[in-house]
Amino acid sequence: MTMIPRDDPSQAVRIRRFFIAFTAYMIWLVLIVYCHYLDFIRLTIWQTGFLYSIFIVVNIAIYALLRSGLNRKFADPSLTVPQMVAATIGTMVVIYFTDEIRALMLLIYFMTFIFGVFRFNTRQYFSFALFTLLSYSLVVLMLFYHHPETVDAGIEILQLLIFGTVLFWFSIIGSYISSLRNRLSASNHELSHAIMTIEALATHDDLTQVYNRRHMFKVLQQVKSLADRSGIPFSIAIFDLDHFKRVNDLFGHQKGDDVLKRVARAVAGVLRESDVLARYGGEEFIVIMPSTEIAGAVDCAQRIHRNLYSLKFTGFPDTFQVTISTGITAYRSVENIDDLIYRADNALYRAKAKGRNRMEIEFSEGHGQQEYSDGAA
Ligand code: GH3
Ligand code: MG
Ligand code: MG
Repeated sequence: MTMIPRDDPSQAVRIRRFFIAFTAYMIWLVLIVYCHYLDFIRLTIWQTGFLYSIFIVVNIAIYALLRSGLNRKFADPSLTVPQMVAATIGTMVVIYFTDEIRALMLLIYFMTFIFGVFRFNTRQYFSFALFTLLSYSLVVLMLFYHHPETVDAGIEILQLLIFGTVLFWFSIIGSYISSLRNRLSASNHELSHAIMTIEALATHDDLTQVYNRRHMFKVLQQVKSLADRSGIPFSIAIFDLDHFKRVNDLFGHQKGDDVLKRVARAVAGVLRESDVLARYGGEEFIVIMPSTEIAGAVDCAQRIHRNLYSLKFTGFPDTFQVTISTGITAYRSVENIDDLIYRADNALYRAKAKGRNRMEIEFSEGHGQQEYSDGAA
């Protein structure tokens, strides 16, 4: 187990922020010890050590919350506000026990206050400024009560005025930065969404939503490289809708489009996860079947034929039916993609010539040809 989780970016950001804050505590520990050395603190070093260890324990508890993931149960999983409140209370304690350098110690508040830029809007920043101001006023009141010799009312009022003004100013600028951050992250979000959309548009066919020709060639290159490198076979099937022109002529182009969509969806439904369906053009599609020898490709094509043969089309007469002709071939080591497609096209052409609604296999050159009449036909 690591100090900062590697597998969860948003938790990692929260925990990294926690460690930044923790580093500030450690820096102040050194400075406070130095203040002791100069005798500016009204406590023994042991009392300071005791108070400081309480804060270390609080911080360990916060870290445990963040690291265990329990922080996700809170409305603000970054625990920004509890951490800032704890640090502000710590600052109050330090300031209460310092005398001459009290005004200087007010700077510690700002080390906490700056963390608001990660989270606060203007209203929240103002609320926290008010909380900080009240916490300091409380310290002054307690000092006035317990150690009146350390308090000069006139100076304290001026100090509060200046402190309040600076806090107010910090809140305005801080929340401005915070809103810029939010806008930036929103536009980043939009941008990555846009990139995803563009990617989908670039790889998919508009009408049928299956892969387009460009992506098809990319996939073919990939499976070819794999086949050439590791001898893993693959096959392709190209199919074309039979007499599709008639569908357009009889029912109109719009209805023709509907048929293409329906066919693409139906074919996609009978393929294996690893198979890739792409629109090769017009009413012609290609199925790339990785890790598949010719026999497996024939099985797959038969499944497609059977499925389409019994497919019902809403908005068409009951007798309406779509058939396809298919050319199948397997990849031959180190051949061109063009040669592979050419062979499948040849087989498809033969299937059409022999009367359609059938599949033909084209083995590699010199191995002859084979026809398959469709089982469902
Ligand atoms: P064959 O059995 O020989 O393939 O006959 P066919 O009528 O299917 O073939 P042909 O190549 O003569 O016609 C293909 C038709 O497909 C013509 C064209 O209008 C139609 N087509 C191609 N793309 C689309 C499309 O996106 N939408 C529609 N509705 N029709 C299309
Ligand atoms: Mg056709
Ligand atoms: Mg065609």
